[in-house]
Amino acid sequence: MPSVQADAIRTVEAIYLRIPRAQSPHMGRQPPVNERGYIVDDDNGTIYPADDRTVILRITTEGGRVGWGETYGIAAGTVVGELVKDLIQPVLRGRDPLDVQVIWQSLYNMMRVRGYTSGFWLDALAAVDIALWDLCGKILGRPVHKLLGGQQRDRIPAYITNIAGSDNAARLDSVRALYDKGFRAFKVHAATSFDYVALLRDLRANFPDITLMLDLHWVHTSAEALSIIRKIEPYDIAFVEAPCRYEDLDGLARVAQGSSIPIAGGEEWRTVHDAHLRLKSGALTIIQPEMGRCGITQFMRMAALADVHHARTMPHATIGFGIFMAASLQASAAIHDLPWHEFQNSVLPRHLPLFETAMKCEAGFYHVPDAPGLGIEPREELWRHVVA
Ligand code: MG
Repeated sequence: MPSVQADAIRTVEAIYLRIPRAQSPHMGRQPPVNERGYIVDDDNGTIYPADDRTVILRITTEGGRVGWGETYGIAAGTVVGELVKDLIQPVLRGRDPLDVQVIWQSLYNMMRVRGYTSGFWLDALAAVDIALWDLCGKILGRPVHKLLGGQQRDRIPAYITNIAGSDNAARLDSVRALYDKGFRAFKVHAATSFDYVALLRDLRANFPDITLMLDLHWVHTSAEALSIIRKIEPYDIAFVEAPCRYEDLDGLARVAQGSSIPIAGGEEWRTVHDAHLRLKSGALTIIQPEMGRCGITQFMRMAALADVHHARTMPHATIGFGIFMAASLQASAAIHDLPWHEFQNSVLPRHLPLFETAMKCEAGFYHVPDAPGLGIEPREELWRHVVA
């Protein structure tokens, strides 16, 4: 085997991209779009862009290699670029990309005492971490899952997270079409604009063999969440996600104690410390790390901690363009107890043509790329969407 040539980081660049969206993935009523292109959701109060936005990170080495990373650019997408230019690139220049976990820790340490242990700073770290793992794979000539301990599976069961339709009859038709294509797991998103309990009831009656999940979007008290859980118990629900507000650790534990349905959460977490707070109380039996917010290093630490607590990992996936999705599949291929990975069926297929990759989601399964690194490279068309 040839020896590995040492390489060093030369540049770190964040690139902000926006793509107009023909159809909104918004589940309920469509609120007005403000002058910066955002809407505020009526149900959960969260702000979303009306187009697709992301931040892609490019690390170039002295040897001419390129590693790709990505984090969320859906709100204030230029912030990460400023952090990369001002704080991250100067300290990473000359570092060895194979020191990926050492680098994550040193960047985290740089801002910890100021309280930057989450938010935009951790978005930037996630993108850097993903790009460094991509470089590690390219330097060593192996797919990232091999570097993470090996491949448990080459395809990953995908659950559908967007059931389109203006009423429950139309939503049943959507599920029928996806069922016929081989999908067997579906998540319903609670909203005030339609009767989601009735939808769960009808889905269970019409599709006895599917896996059903419910996302409650962090808006309830523990008592409200438990009352909803009682109503949906007859419909054989695999998990209830985000039943209480993010800060309500005690409420989450109360829900878990009183619920016959497993409780899931974690899409908002940045580090293993977020996971620790919920796992040690037994409040969660399913964790849902989001690669675009935590990066590969923390994703793997969260999965390892879940393992200690006999909890399962079922990763979250939302509106990236594809690079952090590839990273999520690489990590998911290496985790032993991972029954499902979320599939943003209204988003990912739209963006995949912008990349050279073997990644795809068909007939109910993701296929994991096995090229060196993450197995995804931008095509020229992608750069047409850069925001100058
Ligand atoms: Mg969710």
